[in-house]
Amino acid sequence: MSRIAYVNGRYLPFGEAHVHVEDRGYQLGDGVYEVCEIRDGALVDERRHFERLSRSLAALRIVPPLSSEPLRFVVAETVRRNRVREGLVYVQITRGVARRDHGFPERSPKAALVVTVRALDRAKIDASARTGISVITVPDDRWGRVDIKTIGLLPNVLARQAAKEAGAKDAWFVDDEGFVTEGASSNAWIVKDGILRTRESSSRILTGITMMVVKELAADLQIKVDLRAFTVEEVRAADEAFLTSATQTVMPVVRIDGSAVGSGRPGPLTTRLREAFYRKAELGRSIT
Ligand code: PMP
Repeated sequence: MSRIAYVNGRYLPFGEAHVHVEDRGYQLGDGVYEVCEIRDGALVDERRHFERLSRSLAALRIVPPLSSEPLRFVVAETVRRNRVREGLVYVQITRGVARRDHGFPERSPKAALVVTVRALDRAKIDASARTGISVITVPDDRWGRVDIKTIGLLPNVLARQAAKEAGAKDAWFVDDEGFVTEGASSNAWIVKDGILRTRESSSRILTGITMMVVKELAADLQIKVDLRAFTVEEVRAADEAFLTSATQTVMPVVRIDGSAVGSGRPGPLTTRLREAFYRKAELGRSIT
């Protein structure tokens, strides 16, 4: 089955899905995105993902190309046309097409919208979760507003590539003071003495939707969450570590820079949160 992309008003086979060479997303990284999980043919935490998209757009003063309801329709329709029941939907909005110039165009172009869908191999992700994954650390040399989910992801790309070359699955960014900020596409957590620890929301991290859900889940399960940054040393000395993202939900981290975390196997609290995650996530109506 050929994949279908939505591009500025049209549903097109991938081979015909193109954007303009002067799209400001392509030229300047002037755009934002969202990634939402599709599970059992329904979107997971759609409301929160759309709310974050609105916040990202507002932060860059990009006028949404569609209002909320039509945008939700387009996303659902793209998922439906791709007939994906287990996967991801990617929504990208850029400031649109204009003669290349750094400042905002005098006359605002219509923002450009692209929606793509892809299937996920859930069995493979679950297999990783049973053994846990390794991460490496890299200096956090990103800009100061990573709370905005922009498409400018070069440091994240390089971090993920470094992880791959080191035989690890992900990279955790470390700030100038030695504290972990977050993963290249995830939020970072540790568990020590039965207490979860993750960094407080700020402009230094992207507030993950999965992170928000896990905080609520922890409250339900009466597990304490300490919103404080931790060092790489503290990860090594932790009982458990894990990361959260829409793609991986709660993924155990069992090695950091080659050293074992805790027992070197997925820990009990991490496993419990992973198993309970969909009790707290908002599952939409089935689309496919
Ligand atoms: N931080 C970064 C840098 C990310 O790219 C992601 C993935 N979108 C996350 C955190 C986790 O966010 P979410 O749980 O919403 O997927």
